[in-house]
Amino acid sequence: MPKSEKNIRMNGRFHSVSRLSIVFILAVVISGSVLTYFGINNLSNLKELTEKRILEEQQELASRFSTALQKGIEEVTAGFNDEISHVDLLKDSLRRIPTECEFITLPFIITNNGTFLYPNFTGLSKNLSEPKYSSRYISNFRKGEAAEYLKNDLKAALKYYASCLRNSNEASDSVKALNALGRVSVKLNEYEKAIGHYSIIISNYYSVTSGDGLPYVYYAITQLIKITTPENGEKILHLVEFCLKKMENSLIPLNYNTEELLILVMKWLQENTFNSPEILADIEKLEKSINQQLQFIYKYQKELSGLVKEDDLNNHTNVGNNFKVINAFSGNNQEMLLINTIIKNPVGFLINRQKLFDSILKTGFQTGFEFDYKIELLTGYNSNTTRHNLNYFSQLNPYFQGQMIQIALNDENLINDFILRRSWIYGIATALLLLGMTLGIVLILRDISREKQIARLRADFISNVTHELKTPLTSIHMLAESLLLKRVNQESDNDEYLSIIIKESERLQRMINNILEFSKMEKGKSEYRFEACNLSRLLKEVIHEVDYWLAEKHFNVVTELDKNISANVAPDKIKLAFSNLINNSIKYSIDNRNIIIRLFREKEHICIEVEDQGIGIPDDQLTRIFDKFYRIDQSDSISGTGLGLSVVKEIIDAHSGTITVTSNVGKGSKFSIKLYS
Ligand code: ADP
Repeated sequence: MPKSEKNIRMNGRFHSVSRLSIVFILAVVISGSVLTYFGINNLSNLKELTEKRILEEQQELASRFSTALQKGIEEVTAGFNDEISHVDLLKDSLRRIPTECEFITLPFIITNNGTFLYPNFTGLSKNLSEPKYSSRYISNFRKGEAAEYLKNDLKAALKYYASCLRNSNEASDSVKALNALGRVSVKLNEYEKAIGHYSIIISNYYSVTSGDGLPYVYYAITQLIKITTPENGEKILHLVEFCLKKMENSLIPLNYNTEELLILVMKWLQENTFNSPEILADIEKLEKSINQQLQFIYKYQKELSGLVKEDDLNNHTNVGNNFKVINAFSGNNQEMLLINTIIKNPVGFLINRQKLFDSILKTGFQTGFEFDYKIELLTGYNSNTTRHNLNYFSQLNPYFQGQMIQIALNDENLINDFILRRSWIYGIATALLLLGMTLGIVLILRDISREKQIARLRADFISNVTHELKTPLTSIHMLAESLLLKRVNQESDNDEYLSIIIKESERLQRMINNILEFSKMEKGKSEYRFEACNLSRLLKEVIHEVDYWLAEKHFNVVTELDKNISANVAPDKIKLAFSNLINNSIKYSIDNRNIIIRLFREKEHICIEVEDQGIGIPDDQLTRIFDKFYRIDQSDSISGTGLGLSVVKEIIDAHSGTITVTSNVGKGSKFSIKLYS
């Protein structure tokens, strides 16, 4: 079959392979593109889904917040009913609460006509009824006053006032006399005595008020402050602290003078030095608390007295436990009131909205959410539930109408970061997919071209083998025929014919040996029988086998063989390798027919070199000549099968050796084998 026809058939077979590959490549490209498209599509869906999820969580959070708020309020307002309507009982339960709930600025109790019972604020009453004193008491007291103010006889005044004290029957009598005694003692500079009188007032009669409605302790404190010296300072400090405690506790009523008294006390504290920092701190705390009560009273007294009238409260929302919520008056968003008017003396709380809100935030209702949120109480009022830029605004229904909260993502960039992260993952995955696909396609194309090349080489091989076999067979046939027909004239010619027949058949044999060895190699069935051999002997045997050709082609062969080198080799195989190298040198030498064969030891290696001055090998082919079937296209059309060097390489590899080649085109080649002994 002609060469070109074979190639066409081969190509025909490969066309179907290529078509299959194109289908495969198309499938990969299309599925890759579809995946990429859906990846990108998925990203935008993911954004929408995440936003939806955030909205759901925000709604849930808002409703949980409302519930927690309601629960918090109900806990505070529980348990106020007529069973504890007595002011003292109410006071006790009210005073207990603020320590637990810091959002309660102030608890309060008022009467139905709007008078404050707690904090206890009496104001100043003009028509207070003067207590009934005995006539003896009155006469002595008048004498005392005459002595004190008209005659300026303080000693005599003291006597009269002391007799008043002795003759007093009630608290109001005693405290009035004690107050006068204290005053005169101050005028006499008898401070110790004055302190004695005032301390009795403070400890025993702290709630008793004078004729103008002012508690006597107010006079006592004012006087004590005046007579403070470094010696009596601590004593007076204790007395002042005692009074303020009672005031804060509503046991000493507050009035319009209280503020002034507090200013006086604070100034006194600044101007004197005391050694009891704890008491000082306590007084400062008490002052703040009393002031807060006063401010509350000033601010809410009027409105509250209006509110406690039932009708006014009906339109306010009930927050449970009969408490109504009243938003703070006139633009004060920070405060609100909870008030129960069902019980006899209405009770209530002034509540700091922000603190209430903060205390609810601490209750841990925010667990179990995928994202982190920050919740803020908005100061403005709004009646809509809206959403803007992933910030969710919701009303605190139903008890805090108009009060809005804002629920925002803790991390504003969360969605963007989230999407960015996903984009990177998708991007990298897509890039890897594309890379993998491209790599796959390149590998497939490379494999196809390799397969094509091998197929071509195989086809060439068959025609080469045929050709290689044909030449020696033709000459054998011709010579044998001549001998048979006795066409040979001389005896010497006869011998020559016979020796040519032998050499040609040897050549055939070598070729067949190579093909057989190659076929064994391919099947992995090559058998190596290693034995110690003298390598120079093996080389000589090989050279001897080609003597005929060397002589016939007038080769000059130089051998530099170290006779003493032995190695453990498979002799038949290694000889085949040497033979292939030497035969190639003969085959590929045209003008300069010189061959050098060397065997020497270099360090731990054994080196065998076959060097010729033949046509040489181009650099880019040097690595490929050891491939099976590979042949360089020769312009001189030197025949061959392309198996020789691949067999050599396989044999040397099996001996754990290496084979290298150096060559110059037109100058020759040198094949070097290194064996490790
Ligand atoms: P073949 O000689 O049968 O073609 P080989 O495997 O022995 O196959 O050699 C492969 C190729 O290497 C040859 O086709 C030839 O081109 C090149 N070659 C081998 N030995 C030599 C050499 N000594 N000088 C120049 N070219 C060589």
